[in-house]
Amino acid sequence: MSRASSLLRLQDIDQSIDRVQERLTAIELVLQGSSLVLERQAELSEREAHLRATEAASRGAEDMVELQRQKIEQTEGSLYGGSVQNPKELQDLQREAEALKRHLATLEDRLLEAMLEAEEAELRRASASEALVRAEGAVAEEHIQLKQERSLMLADLSRLQAEREASLGSVDQSDIALYGELRQGMGSVVVARVQDGSCGVCGLILPASASQAIRNANELVRCPQCRRFLYAG
Ligand SMILES: [Zn+2]
Repeated sequence: MSRASSLLRLQDIDQSIDRVQERLTAIELVLQGSSLVLERQAELSEREAHLRATEAASRGAEDMVELQRQKIEQTEGSLYGGSVQNPKELQDLQREAEALKRHLATLEDRLLEAMLEAEEAELRRASASEALVRAEGAVAEEHIQLKQERSLMLADLSRLQAEREASLGSVDQSDIALYGELRQGMGSVVVARVQDGSCGVCGLILPASASQAIRNANELVRCPQCRRFLYAG
C-alpha cells in the first residue's frame, strides 16, 4: 500500500466517522426537546388564558342581568305596591320600568353572546389539549426510533474507530501528523484523487514530474496549488 493510499483509507474512515457523529449530534438535539410539543404547549396555554377571559366576561354579563332584574323588581314594587298614588309619579315609574326592561333585553343578548364565546373558547381549548396529547404521542414514537438509530450509530462509531486504529499501523507517523494538521485547515478532504492528470479537488493540471512521482508508492506528493496529498488509484 502506498503512502497516499494509506492516507486515503484513513480519510475515508474519518469521513464516515464525521457523518456518524453529525447524525448523532442531530439525534441528541431532537431527543433533548421537541419543538412540536413546545408549540402545542404554548397554543394550549394561550387558549386556556382566552377561555378564562371569556368565562370572566360571561360572569360579568350575568351579574349585569341580575342587577337589572333587581332594579326592575324594585321599580315595579313601587309602581304596584300602592305607596305611590300621584299619577305623574306613577307614569314616571311606568316609563322607568319600560326603559329598564328594554335595557335588560340588551344585557341578556350580551350575556348570550358571552356564553357562546366561552363555549367556543372551551371547544378550542379542548382541541388544543388533544393536539398536545397527540404531539406527545408522536414525539414518544419518534424518540423510540431515534434511540434505536442512536444505538446503531454508536455501534458504527466504535467499529469505525477500531478500523481507524488498525489503519494507523500502516501509515507513517509523520504522515499522520501532517494529515491531522491539514484536516484542521482544509476540512475533511485532504487527500485528492488524480483524475485525467489533474488534481481532483482544485482541478490543476499536474506537471509531468508530479505525475511521475505519484506513481512511486514511497513518495507523498502534494498538489502544487491546493497543497492536498495526491492519490492516483
Ligand atoms: Zn489541488
